[in-house]
Amino acid sequence: MTTIGCGCKICKASLGEYTNQLIIDGVSPKEVLEMLKNRGVKTTAKLLKKHLSAYEIQYPETDNSEIINCTPVKVDLNKIDFSEYNFDVNDIESIIGYLQKINLKIYLNQSKITLQAQQDVIDGKSPNVPKEILQNLAIAFQILDKSTGLSTHVNQQEAIKVVEAMGLLVQRPSSFLLPSHVTNPSQSETN
Ligand SMILES: [Zn+2]
Repeated sequence: MTTIGCGCKICKASLGEYTNQLIIDGVSPKEVLEMLKNRGVKTTAKLLKKHLSAYEIQYPETDNSEIINCTPVKVDLNKIDFSEYNFDVNDIESIIGYLQKINLKIYLNQSKITLQAQQDVIDGKSPNVPKEILQNLAIAFQILDKSTGLSTHVNQQEAIKVVEAMGLLVQRPSSFLLPSHVTNPSQSETN
């Protein structure tokens, strides 16, 4: 049996010379891998590197396709069209409410993604929940928490309950905003 080219997957598919020419012509490895894939050869950058070294062709380390030209985003605060958002620009509470709603939506979407990933594990489609998904959920929760003060409200209420159960009286601020499911006894007394 004769060896074709360097004997690698690319050469076996008679695409060795073709690949070499592409690299010599300056086509990026990423694009070459894509072109090989289109011709039925699914390979990796590592194998491509090995193949090229067999032909003493230098592997282009700096992938031109990876260079992203960044242009600054110009933001003119006077030109923001607030009419497309559902809040009154002069009403600070409606702005906060809008932000809270957006962040809640982000969190719920991320929860959906996380739950799906967990279901995939349960169904045996995936070995584990990707770390990134859990990190994203944690970040989404942090954002939601920051814009709603959720953990502060909940933890503070729990802390007050514990202290009061010990027989101590805690002065509660009257303007304290509570989630609707948390009852505020000091407020109900005044009502
Ligand atoms: Zn080869």
